Amino acid sequence: MPPTGRFAPSPTGPLHAGSLVAALASWLDVRARGPRARWLVRIEDADTERCQPGMGDVILAQLAACDLLPDEPPVWQTQRTEFYDEALVQLRQAGLAYPCGCSRKDIDEALARQGVVHTRHGERVYPGTCRDGLHGKKPRAWRFAATRIQGAGGALAWTDRRLGAQQQDVASEVGDFVLRRADGPWAYQLAVVVDDAQQGITDVVRGEDLADNTARQILLQRALGLPTPRYLHTPLVRAADGSKLSKQNGAQAIDTGSPQGARVELNAAARMLGLQGEDRAGWIAQWRDLYNPGPDDSSP
Ligand code: GLU
Repeated sequence: MPPTGRFAPSPTGPLHAGSLVAALASWLDVRARGPRARWLVRIEDADTERCQPGMGDVILAQLAACDLLPDEPPVWQTQRTEFYDEALVQLRQAGLAYPCGCSRKDIDEALARQGVVHTRHGERVYPGTCRDGLHGKKPRAWRFAATRIQGAGGALAWTDRRLGAQQQDVASEVGDFVLRRADGPWAYQLAVVVDDAQQGITDVVRGEDLADNTARQILLQRALGLPTPRYLHTPLVRAADGSKLSKQNGAQAIDTGSPQGARVELNAAARMLGLQGEDRAGWIAQWRDLYNPGPDDSSP
């Protein structure tokens, strides 16, 4: 299996300074591995409600303008739903997925009854109401029985190549999370795990805002018998007021309208990654020193 990395944007808006950092970092990590390593692009359009029509193509054009060209044709999640279906069947057969009939209100009421007031990043920790059956409700979503697979082992530990040792107790900090939503779309967690495995991704390099999802993804990989890639989460680009720059808070699209514009944007992204100079060979060498991606160990 050749070393393989990927950039996996959600087409909810054009690339902004933050997403370009993740794109460049994952590209550098692959190029630092040598000629056989592969860099792939996956358009994560599974969440059809948040995605904008035509935006996947806009992003691909922006990447091309920055000369960040994938080694294989990009894949689109909306064309891969049969694989998510298969994974859900596998989890159901293993007793690790169950239907849930709870509305948000049901969840809030159950949490209040348990005396739980906290939420995590504004999300509710699912109280497990439907784990032992629907209690006469209609199924609305599919949930992953995180509590069942994690067992009594406590927190799940993993190592990030930049951030070091990490851990999360998924069962108590997140709860049984959603695999497929009530309104139909596949949840990011399931789609990303299935796709990373099918595309042979050995190294996930993405923004630090996603680090918090990693423990969930590792649990899902274990439940599905899939390998766990290495993870590296890149520094976040912050808005002037210090808040996280994101499509949601109106981050500006990068200017790739001219070769010069694209170069300016790439140089800024490289600076964010702590890299000096303006040439890619130099960035690759510095990346190797910083993150030791390893040799191109794929067999010929
Ligand atoms: N599609 C996700 C995003 O744009 C990234 C997923 C990932 O890299 O795992 O935020």
